[in-house]
Amino acid sequence: MIPKSSPFIIIGAGIHGLSTAYHLAKRLQRSGRGCGEDIIVLDKSGICAGATGIACGVIRNNYYQPAMRELMAHSVKVWESDPETYSYHPVGYMQISCEAMREDVASIHQQQQAIGYESVFVDGAANSDAYMKTFFSDWRAQGITSVLHEKSGGYANNSRAMYGLAAKVEALGVRIITGISVTAMVRDGAGAIVAVDTDQSQISCDYVVVAAGPWVPKFWDMLGLPSSISIKNPNTGVVSQNIPMWVYWSLQEGTLGVDPKLQVTEDGAMPPVIHVDTDAPLHSDEDGRLITDDMWGIYYKPDFHFGGVQGGAAPFIIDKPVGEVAVDPYGPASPEFVVGPDFADMWVSALAHCQSRFSGMTPRFKREPSGGIGAFTPDSFPVFDEVCENCFVIADSNHGYKMIGVGDLVADKICGGSSDLLKPFRLSRYEEGALHPVSNSPFPWS
Ligand SMILES: Cc1cc2nc3c(=O)[nH]c(=O)nc-3n(C[C@H](O)[C@H](O)[C@H](O)COP(=O)(O)OP(=O)(O)OC[C@H]3O[C@@H](n4cnc5c(N)ncnc54)[C@H](O)[C@@H]3O)c2cc1C
Repeated sequence: MIPKSSPFIIIGAGIHGLSTAYHLAKRLQRSGRGCGEDIIVLDKSGICAGATGIACGVIRNNYYQPAMRELMAHSVKVWESDPETYSYHPVGYMQISCEAMREDVASIHQQQQAIGYESVFVDGAANSDAYMKTFFSDWRAQGITSVLHEKSGGYANNSRAMYGLAAKVEALGVRIITGISVTAMVRDGAGAIVAVDTDQSQISCDYVVVAAGPWVPKFWDMLGLPSSISIKNPNTGVVSQNIPMWVYWSLQEGTLGVDPKLQVTEDGAMPPVIHVDTDAPLHSDEDGRLITDDMWGIYYKPDFHFGGVQGGAAPFIIDKPVGEVAVDPYGPASPEFVVGPDFADMWVSALAHCQSRFSGMTPRFKREPSGGIGAFTPDSFPVFDEVCENCFVIADSNHGYKMIGVGDLVADKICGGSSDLLKPFRLSRYEEGALHPVSNSPFPWS
């Protein structure tokens, strides 16, 4: 039965919708102002049917932007609060970088010390190589001059964690209603949302949270928000007009079908998640052909859930997403579309460049749909904001599996709080020129 009304409607049963539902239910209950029964989560498909269900699941703090680091430190604490339910593996994370990134990464390390986030910084080519060989004797990546080893973080098994979170949500009395699509927002004369239209019926409400992942541009339109914006350059004060609000990127990920234990450390332990960025020439492991002599980056981890060594490489912008992909990033057109034909050669060659144990393994790459599409904001950082008096939009610009704590901060805001952690992600930062610093990483989300 679809209810006729609900005080709180949360759209999307991915990481952000479920986390918001959980923390909001707890806050309502604690304050005596309500309970979980006051909240419904609506999803057009099912629990973690969107980006959350295909995420690599990497959880790290390594960000050049102070506001992102502080937000991630908060989220890592949420992962650590219930590792079993969240299927969280606190194996740590390594950012292994070339000279162009060394100073950026050294400053990340310093600032991690300042916020009490445990990490080790290894400086210099010889030190980095020796450090990596203590974990993997076959380590041989070229062009590396620093290693940042975060002792916290790691990864979580994407859907298993979400079913755990959904169980916690439902135990608080929240209803998760799947197979129902929100089609419009109904507003009163003052612009407040009084109901949402769905493909089944209208549901009136007091407050709406939009947590629609890569479908967020559709809701942006429903809310009458601008499809292009002005951005002030913080250094020059020059304002650029008509910048598109949303850009689609194709995320490149896949799995090498090997025993995950192939990638244990020298002492037989599960290793940290490895992320390598280097400008050393990359040659095909199959035929020696030069793949690129530009800077490239990959990440990988052994993962029993994916059944092998899983990871990815830098994404690319999709200029004009074809028809339904633009509308429905995980629609029927997407599987062939998301991972480019050259990905396997590049990624496995890059693995072999880093560790000889992966040489000759390109034929073991799993030829199955993988990767996905992300809706990114103009600066590739999240927009977390109340866009009208009773609607909060969570648009994480594809940073967000690791951000399990954002729902806690959003729930706090809805209940009258004002966390400093969310402020740097307000929509008005673009016109104010309050932008985040830009790093030298080849990835749009570092
Ligand atoms: C291939 C890939 C790998 C990634 N790896 C990582 C990683 O390792 N670490 C990391 O931190 N992040 C990663 N990300 C990013 C991360 O997955 C996303 O940022 C995050 O999952 C977004 O969560 P969400 O809850 O906002 O959206 P989603 O998980 O996409 O959930 C949105 C939900 O909204 C529902 N919905 C959409 N439209 C409607 C509608 N009209 N009515 C009702 N329901 C609707 C959808 O069905 C969906 O279930 C990855 C992303 C991709 C694509």
